[in-house]
Amino acid sequence: MNLEMKMTLENDVLAFLKTHEGEMLTLLEQLVNADSGSYDKAGVDACGDIITNFLRKHELEVEIDRQEIYGDTIRGILPAHAANDRRPIIMMGHRDTVFPKGTPAKRPFSIKYGRAYGPGVVDMKPGLVTNLFVLAALKACGFDKAPVTALITGDEEIGSPASRPVIEREARLARCVFNSEPSMVKDGVKIINGGRKGGLFSRLEIKGKAAHAGNSFTVGRSAIHELSRKIVQLEALTDLEAGITVNIGLIGGGQSSNTVAPSAFCEIDCRIVTVEQRNMMYGKIKAICEEVLIEGTSSHWFLKGEFYPLEVTPANKVLQDIYREAASEIGMKITTQFSGGCADSGFTSAAGCPTICSIGPSGGFWHTDDEYVEISSLLPAAQALALSVIKAAMA
Ligand SMILES: [Zn+2]
Repeated sequence: MNLEMKMTLENDVLAFLKTHEGEMLTLLEQLVNADSGSYDKAGVDACGDIITNFLRKHELEVEIDRQEIYGDTIRGILPAHAANDRRPIIMMGHRDTVFPKGTPAKRPFSIKYGRAYGPGVVDMKPGLVTNLFVLAALKACGFDKAPVTALITGDEEIGSPASRPVIEREARLARCVFNSEPSMVKDGVKIINGGRKGGLFSRLEIKGKAAHAGNSFTVGRSAIHELSRKIVQLEALTDLEAGITVNIGLIGGGQSSNTVAPSAFCEIDCRIVTVEQRNMMYGKIKAICEEVLIEGTSSHWFLKGEFYPLEVTPANKVLQDIYREAASEIGMKITTQFSGGCADSGFTSAAGCPTICSIGPSGGFWHTDDEYVEISSLLPAAQALALSVIKAAMA
């Protein structure tokens, strides 16, 4: 493709997106009003139907990995049969939200002073909107320099238990991944993620031996005592300088104040910056949790979920440069920031695929009732993504 053809294509795609700005907002409204809490498979799949209808309407291919417990994993595909490099470029996003069933009915999509509100209105339904419209724009403008896939998952907010194998499978075959998680804006500059922490989310359950606290104290084996000693050791693993934190955010146990505690549990949130740290911390947490300190107690530790970190690798930096160049062409300034939050981008990066994260539309307060998106950020987010995909295909 010569320079002139590339510029024509870029202009066509930018124009397509501009003329569909209103439709983007309409699709966002439909998606936000579709109940899709992570544990509500029927809701997440119904939300998925809106997406597959969109894809079919725009003559894009649809492939679905059916999931038993959580929402199905959807792929919208723009093939490029003539491309020399057959590895697809992936635009990724999740359609599940942290909100329980019924939230959209109570708090539907609404607009006030240029901001839209509603569950998932920034995390990350507008990112899906930009991904879908970019795919439609590339199709409409005859883009064929690389296959492009919109990968839409349904269980990210709970650690992607079902979609993780699909994400990793797709990432291993892909050229690069653009993850449209929400971004923030400060002083007119869009803040995207230069990297993200990974997390190990685990649970420890301890069994002791119940006994009357007055009559037979010494017969008892306190699960709470065992737990509290372990907690002190676990919290001591925090190393702020290395970016490692261990938070025991939930505990419980016991039967009554006059009974030696027969059971206790805690849940452990550990954040790390590198895969190497992840492996080290996994070993340390497991060792502490499984060591018996008070004879007669027993401990059971298991992983509830995890995210890999999005490391700051040279390949990921190259992708950031591509995005930065694309953004500057539409007059958007960006800066990168490291995030303590986890996302699916860690899985794709750890699978060896260059990845960039948090390039979606901008807003704030996600995971709360005040969540909002700046409506004016949808179009530039879509345009910068579209130009980045074209550039990545040429790189
Ligand atoms: Zn998200």
